[in-house]
Amino acid sequence: MRDGDILPPGFETVLQVRERRDRLVRQLARSLEPGAPELTSRLELCRKGDRCGSGACHVCQRLERKILIRAADAALRRDGPLTRLSWIPQGGVIPLGGLAAFDLRRFIASRLRALQRALPSIVVFGGVDVSLNTFENGVPVWVVHLYLLIEAANTKALRAAILARCPGEPSAPRPFQFWEVSRAGRAKVFSYAVKAAFYKRSGFIDATGRANTRPQALPAGAAVEAALFLDRWPLQRRLILHGLRLVHGCDGLRLVRRNGGASRRGSRP
Ligand SMILES: [Zn+2]
Repeated sequence: MRDGDILPPGFETVLQVRERRDRLVRQLARSLEPGAPELTSRLELCRKGDRCGSGACHVCQRLERKILIRAADAALRRDGPLTRLSWIPQGGVIPLGGLAAFDLRRFIASRLRALQRALPSIVVFGGVDVSLNTFENGVPVWVVHLYLLIEAANTKALRAAILARCPGEPSAPRPFQFWEVSRAGRAKVFSYAVKAAFYKRSGFIDATGRANTRPQALPAGAAVEAALFLDRWPLQRRLILHGLRLVHGCDGLRLVRRNGGASRRGSRP
C-alpha cells in the first residue's frame, strides 16, 4: 500500500516529526529527571537503518502509526456500524509527577475485563491516550483516556451495557463520549486511536454551555515526564485489543480477529 491510502489528511510529515523530536531532545537534555540523559542519547542516535524504536521518538512512532492504522483498517469490518467511545475510566486521574509510578499494564488489564463483561462478543480496537488536563483553571492532572472503536451501532443498549459494566472517573466532567463513525471518518479515528504524543488540554465552557477542551503543547517538565512514560509504554503496549490480536509475521505486523475469544492487551513489540 502507498501513503495516502487510509492515512488521514494532515498526517504528520517526516519533517514535522523530526522537528518535534529535536525539540524533545533539547527539553530532555536540560532535565535532571532520572532516565532523561539515557533517553536523550538514544533519541539522538536514531537514524535510518538503525532506528531507536522508542515510544518517545516521534520519527519511530510515525512509522509505527502507519503500520497500525493500516492493520486496523484491514481488520475492522467495513460492512457494519462502528462506534467510537472516549472513556475516562475510574482511577484514570494521576497527579502531575505520578506517571513514573503508574502501572499501565494493570490498568489496561482490569479495564479489558470490564469490556469483556460489557461486550462479550464484540470486537473492539483502541488505544490509551494521556493528556494533561486543567479544568476551570484547577491544578493540572494527567487524565488517562481509552479511545475505543467498537464494532456495533451507537444504540441505547450498547451505551447501557458500557455504563453498567465500565465505571467512569467520577471527577471527570464527561467520562464517556460516544459517536458513530462514518465510512469517511475511519482514517481519522484509526489515527487518533494510535496517537503517539500527549498534549495539554485546558477545559472551558464553550458557547453552547458544554465543557470543551483545546490541545496545546506540554510545558517542558510535563513533556519530559510524558516522554519517559511513552518510552516505557510504546504504542504497541498501549493498544486495547478485544477480540483481536497482533501477529508479527514475516510479512509484517497484522491484526487478526479472534473468533469470540477472550480479550487481550496489546502484544509485546
Ligand atoms: Zn527513533
